Amino acid sequence: MAEITFQNVWKRYPDGFEAVKDMNLEIGDGEFMILVGPSGCGKSTALRMVAGLEDITDGDLVIGGERVNELAPRDRDIAMVFQNYALYPHMTVRENMGFALKLAKVNKSEIDKKVDEAAQILELGAHLDRKPANLSGGQRQRVAMGRAIVRDPKAFLMDEPLSNLDAKLRVQMRTQVARIQQQLGTTMLYVTHDQTEAMTLGDRVAVMRAGIIQQVDTPKVLYED
Ligand code: ADP
Ligand code: ADP
Repeated sequence: MAEITFQNVWKRYPDGFEAVKDMNLEIGDGEFMILVGPSGCGKSTALRMVAGLEDITDGDLVIGGERVNELAPRDRDIAMVFQNYALYPHMTVRENMGFALKLAKVNKSEIDKKVDEAAQILELGAHLDRKPANLSGGQRQRVAMGRAIVRDPKAFLMDEPLSNLDAKLRVQMRTQVARIQQQLGTTMLYVTHDQTEAMTLGDRVAVMRAGIIQQVDTPKVLYED
């Protein structure tokens, strides 16, 4: 069953610009879907509509069988990791990762358990008491993912999560993102303008240009085209 479905989705901004045009895309349960295309083609807009951070002009968005067009972000049960992962500088890694659960009034022992589990998958166990300033870029990126993972979302949305990292670290983190997604088995919609990233990471790749999805295929089929 599809976990996230775009059905004839349009986005027209108030100035009349059509950033997403008649988008149809089905992302399967547990699937790693990449949305790739040049800067300005509408990728972030599409992602932000799934997150509920941007209204849908026309069409339907379905998450886990439920039409979510009018649902608030917090009621969509999805987690988004941004490019500029703003960690709270005064909090430790553990506090950063557990903060959303604390706000949700989850009890402390449950929070500790969730954070420890996520830290193990993310290989952050040795850094839980550190502050973000004392972490490497890759470690910070993993803390940002950890904040999303602890919420056990139905799906992850990632918007260019590696684009602030240097080239060497970016390659390392690709491997880690793929491993983490496999381990969690959670549906993923991952946005990038980087074709290499698209071809190495996803189960399937949706190619977008000027607001239109042009092709959806496995990296293998796209590579051979
Ligand atoms: P991408 O993520 O692929 O770089 P975006 O989804 O951010 O693309 O933007 C798609 C297009 O929509 C761009 O041309 C951008 O300038 C335009 N756009 C984004 N936000 C707005 C807005 N609030 N009002 C008008 N146009 C916008
Ligand atoms: P809060 O400080 O209560 O988290 P926000 O306005 O940041 O307030 O978020 C409101 C709700 O929206 C949160 O409870 C969370 O579930 C959801 N939310 C916040 N950020 C994101 C995000 N990046 N992706 C998806 N959902 C989010």
